[in-house]
Amino acid sequence: MNFARQEIIDILKDDSQNNWLFELADKVRRENVGDKVHLRGLIEFSNICKCRCCYCGLRSPNKLIDRYRIEPDDIILYAKKAVEMGYKTIVLQSGEDEFYSRDVMCEIIKGIKELGCALTLSIGERSFEDYKAFKDCGADRYLIRIETTDRQLYKKMHPNMDFDNRVRCLKDLKKLGYEVGTGCLVGLPEQTLESLADDVLFFKEIDADMIGLGPFIAHPQTPLKDSANGNFILALKVMALTRILLKNINIPATTAMETLNPQGRVIALQSGANVVMPNVTLSDFSSKYEIYPDKCSLSDRGEVEKIIKSIGRSVSDDYGFRSR
Ligand code: SAM
Repeated sequence: MNFARQEIIDILKDDSQNNWLFELADKVRRENVGDKVHLRGLIEFSNICKCRCCYCGLRSPNKLIDRYRIEPDDIILYAKKAVEMGYKTIVLQSGEDEFYSRDVMCEIIKGIKELGCALTLSIGERSFEDYKAFKDCGADRYLIRIETTDRQLYKKMHPNMDFDNRVRCLKDLKKLGYEVGTGCLVGLPEQTLESLADDVLFFKEIDADMIGLGPFIAHPQTPLKDSANGNFILALKVMALTRILLKNINIPATTAMETLNPQGRVIALQSGANVVMPNVTLSDFSSKYEIYPDKCSLSDRGEVEKIIKSIGRSVSDDYGFRSR
């Protein structure tokens, strides 16, 4: 099934057909990627960031956050523990922290790839040469959300950043053979339903392999502290539409969904999602990786498996690349 732009906008506007939409997304998920849920072990290794994204608690002007950086050898140790727990993919995420130069990242990547797992990076905007070096060392996937395709809104939300460079990153990553993940925030101030429809069409146009999206959640130490949070149902609808249009991609049930709704992750898994990313550094660092308040991170793998089984699904034991 394919939707034109106006149909997507109409679906986003009208809540009377939500059950039909979520059931259809669940069916498309089952037919294209099956009932297995891929678990990715998430390591949030630095909350130091040179950017000033107006919504994000890690933004450099936030002086109230307790900054941390995990040493390269310790990152590899966390990855080793995660692989021993059964994770087949490690996701390394951080702020844009220049301490992790090309050479430092390459050493970390090589150390993790020796563990025999798949590796996803989510460390922001880098040069083509950096992305190439990371790929040559064995990195498999890269996540970098476009955040919004509305250029004007992008500019307002990202002082000193450039929308075209963000797109350049996505294109470079595709060219280099990564599995590429992107996504958007839902509910940013001044964001329109039209621009959300454009976001979904953008995901399709660049043939994204993974889409992570979630509601915007206001952080008290940001310029958006007085803005309303995004709407859980609207974020779920954007996710369901993404599943219906892109069919066989990987879609995580994100932490932001759970933060706004206590059942958010399960509801997302039943409305198109097929990936969960438990945090493997939670006890030591996760409370400091505060991109928004009351972040509902999951860390207990056993607990996650129980939740997945309770909805009649099971945990995948393969690497979880996009199913073609
Ligand atoms: N620095 C990397 C990058 O730019 O891709 C990854 C880290 S960044 C903190 C990860 C994601 O957190 C962003 O892509 C953004 O969508 C999300 N995020 C940040 N602040 C948020 C907020 N207030 N509410 C919801 N999501 C947020």
